[in-house]
Amino acid sequence: MRGLMMGMPLSIPALLRRAESIFPHKAIIGRLPDRSVSHSTYRECLVGARRLAAAMRSLGVRQGDRVATFCWNHERHLHAYYGIPASGAILHTLNIRLHPDELAYIINHADDSVVIVDKVLWPLFEPVRQRIGDRRIVVISDDADVPPGTQRYDDLLAAQDAVDGFDDVDEQSAAVMCYTSGTTGRSKGVLYSHRSLVLHSLAAALPDMMNLAESSRVLGVVPMFHANAWGLPFACALVGAAQVLPGPYLDAASIVALLETERVTHALGVPTIAHALLQHLDAHPGHDLSALRILLVGGAAIPEATIRAFDGRHGIRVVHAWGMTETAPLGSINRLPSELADAPGDAQFAWRAKQGRPAPFVEVRARADDGSLVPCDDVAMGELEVRGPWVAAAYYPGDEAKDRWTDDGWFRTGDIVTIGATGCLTICDRAKDLVKSGGEWISSVTLEGALIEHPGIAEVVVIAVPHERWGERPLAVVVPVPGCQPTLHDVRAHLDRRVARWWLPDGVVLVDSLPRTGVGKYQKNVLRERYKGYFES
Ligand code: ADP
Repeated sequence: MRGLMMGMPLSIPALLRRAESIFPHKAIIGRLPDRSVSHSTYRECLVGARRLAAAMRSLGVRQGDRVATFCWNHERHLHAYYGIPASGAILHTLNIRLHPDELAYIINHADDSVVIVDKVLWPLFEPVRQRIGDRRIVVISDDADVPPGTQRYDDLLAAQDAVDGFDDVDEQSAAVMCYTSGTTGRSKGVLYSHRSLVLHSLAAALPDMMNLAESSRVLGVVPMFHANAWGLPFACALVGAAQVLPGPYLDAASIVALLETERVTHALGVPTIAHALLQHLDAHPGHDLSALRILLVGGAAIPEATIRAFDGRHGIRVVHAWGMTETAPLGSINRLPSELADAPGDAQFAWRAKQGRPAPFVEVRARADDGSLVPCDDVAMGELEVRGPWVAAAYYPGDEAKDRWTDDGWFRTGDIVTIGATGCLTICDRAKDLVKSGGEWISSVTLEGALIEHPGIAEVVVIAVPHERWGERPLAVVVPVPGCQPTLHDVRAHLDRRVARWWLPDGVVLVDSLPRTGVGKYQKNVLRERYKGYFES
């Protein structure tokens, strides 16, 4: 017998109707290109979203068409997050830091009808434009000038009549599209449905997840083109949280200024951002960040030493999370369980450095090389497989890289993990980043976490380098603290007793900087290529 309840769609329009009727006065704050800070509201933002939807219709955009954005984090980008899915079209966020060839590939592959571009980003977009055929380009510009052949965003919106309400759409229809950032290969398109984003927002807001509420003031130091802005635009609108948008200024000084003046309660970013904030706070004590309740860090592993440093030196609680573009992105979040509330500090920090327990409805398991599922004992390593209502079931348009899914429909993440008895994940490595020495696996993440505690090391990446005898051995690529020159001997002595002897790196190279992807992750593939002959005699 079927239940007798309403089948009201879980849609972005429904979520926006709630925001507009209950939280119209709540703040949307943004740093503008001229560095000033603007104060707006959900009401104003949603009027803009509806005008944008009408403007897109006037350009011929129909249900299911893709509208791309090439933008920083600002209120007009939020118009697009809300207005485009609400109109039945699909918001496609482009990663502004990708190579023009990759961007052109993505735009052509997605077949975007319109691309909305920040004028300040025009120099990055111009080389792409020549390779994407005849698509409509709309430019967000604070002055009257826009490049020839493009339309000015504000003029386009001003020409629309204000329309009321947000009409529902089928909850299974596509709302947002985001290509993976391509850290390990060609970008692939992930197509989020309305339903998946609404459920993701509900889960993200829970107390043991991001813990978002009407009283929250949220600053995502996460580009709005990275993994669906970590779901923040929708989760914040759902609960009525104030949003603080950093504009083009993601440097530590600008972020700390916003945290302080806007009394931010939740900040989110990748470890590189967290490290920059830590260095800034160490060098410039005295900021009042007493409103800040959590700094949620994900996208790559954050070392235990960094979590301790934030706690001990600045009273800031780092919460570690794991996710992927393919998981919308929330996969797991680390919250200290109540049974550890009175545990010694070391036990608490050891737990907090893990990637945490899966979000509700996200199910996890791990598979060993021999195809068997590994036990949940915190020891056995295997490749993480996930499934859930906001996990991709295929890449756009549906037939790419089908081997990423198991025969029974779980997504193969490519991450090597251990799982604890109560479901806590530890990401040991990406499968491609593991060091396979003499048939055994060495976790580069564990080595990096231990090495960053060395006083002479500012940044470090450990990579697998081919080795005649062992197959592969670890090489540490180090950015030293100014004035320090850590040697292989120093590094090995530091790691001794922290890790097994056979895990100790066989080489150390000192560099000025490390290559990063468009979202700030280290590009280990570039380093592997650069140093592939390092152990050749
Ligand atoms: P890309 O795959 O191009 O890097 P994503 O942003 O989707 O783009 O990255 C997802 C990957 O990032 C995960 O598969 C995992 O390897 C890594 N990752 C995310 N969060 C964490 C974390 N907390 N610890 C370790 N690795 C993480």
